[in-house]
Amino acid sequence: MKNSPKFETLVVHAGLDPDPSTGAVVTPIYQTSTYVQDQISKHKGFEYARTQNPTRSALEKALALLEAGTSAYAFGSGMAAIDAVLKLLKPGDHVLAVNDLYGGTFRMFDKIYKQYGISFSYTPATDTAIFLEQIQENTTLVWLESPTNPHLSLCDITEIAENTKIRSSTPLIAVDNTFATPYLQQPLLLGADIVVHSTTKYIGGHSDLIGGAVVIQDSDLAEQFGFIQNAVGAVPGPLDCFLSLRGLRTLALRMTRHAENALVIAKYLQERPEVEQVYYPFLRSHPQFSLAHKQMKNGGGMISFTLKGGRESAKSFAESTKVFLLAESLGGVESLVEVPALMTHASTAQSALEVDSALVRLSVGIENIDDLLEDIDQAF
Ligand SMILES: *Cc1c(COP(=O)(O)O)cnc(C)c1O
Repeated sequence: MKNSPKFETLVVHAGLDPDPSTGAVVTPIYQTSTYVQDQISKHKGFEYARTQNPTRSALEKALALLEAGTSAYAFGSGMAAIDAVLKLLKPGDHVLAVNDLYGGTFRMFDKIYKQYGISFSYTPATDTAIFLEQIQENTTLVWLESPTNPHLSLCDITEIAENTKIRSSTPLIAVDNTFATPYLQQPLLLGADIVVHSTTKYIGGHSDLIGGAVVIQDSDLAEQFGFIQNAVGAVPGPLDCFLSLRGLRTLALRMTRHAENALVIAKYLQERPEVEQVYYPFLRSHPQFSLAHKQMKNGGGMISFTLKGGRESAKSFAESTKVFLLAESLGGVESLVEVPALMTHASTAQSALEVDSALVRLSVGIENIDDLLEDIDQAF
């Protein structure tokens, strides 16, 4: 091809090499723990399935290509991927994190890594200068989400990367790209060092697996993650890798429809008298509307909003929808609703990151928009 393939083409073909033994178009599920060797250490590149598995390799190759990385490492969950990043650190290191982030990430930082002598600061990252004031001499990792979970606020990844790299201590910049996916933004191209995914969400896209991944460009980091993946062993099984790849093929189509539906719903919610505030990056009322347009291809499929009636109204709304299923998680083809303070973000209760219990979070699916609007209307 004269021109390099566009994302919609890449996402269908990435990592798709016909199976060498049969020519199968789709990489099979290599359900095996070990591989026979011709002689000691003379083998086909596969020794033991914690270290290498062809189904996992196909997924890793695809994710590396789509995130503009050179390598990717798949893990058994998004949390296991985040854990692998934290394993780069040593006691005495400091992590500067955005103050609005996935509850499980906060719980891991606060309940596990703090006791190993790593310290954490949580600061809004909407204003780059204010955020970077919190960098310390011993800051070795900057942890970002954009859009954040659950408030959908953004940070300017390019600006943060540029202004972090001119410092004498050059912390690594990690972006949890679960909400945006590489279809909307590719943080490695914006200056980030590490991209993290919960592939459970939009990458898998069908709410039928748990998985995670780390993507990088740097060869030293690649070596470290390869070592951690094998030494710690939090690897995904071949069936989950297969399902992630299977889901991934339609990422561009799905994200387009998720975002089309979400924008209509976000605008509708803004007009409802019961609603206090709507958080959606492509709404004109979003404080970072112009950054959203600069950094993201579309607004994605996640919406949060607060209800004037507070916690009881939020609970009642979330328990009254019929098409939107009441469940944690996000990013599947089906619409979901939840109350973060009582569900996904319960671990932030009584911390500085505590989430308003009047907040409702929607993961807008790919159903017909009229059915979704009717469902929301009857839930009010
Ligand atoms: C779900 C989620 C995670 C954790 O991923 P699991 O696959 O559930 O372990 C991390 N970050 C974000 C933004 C998430 O939404």
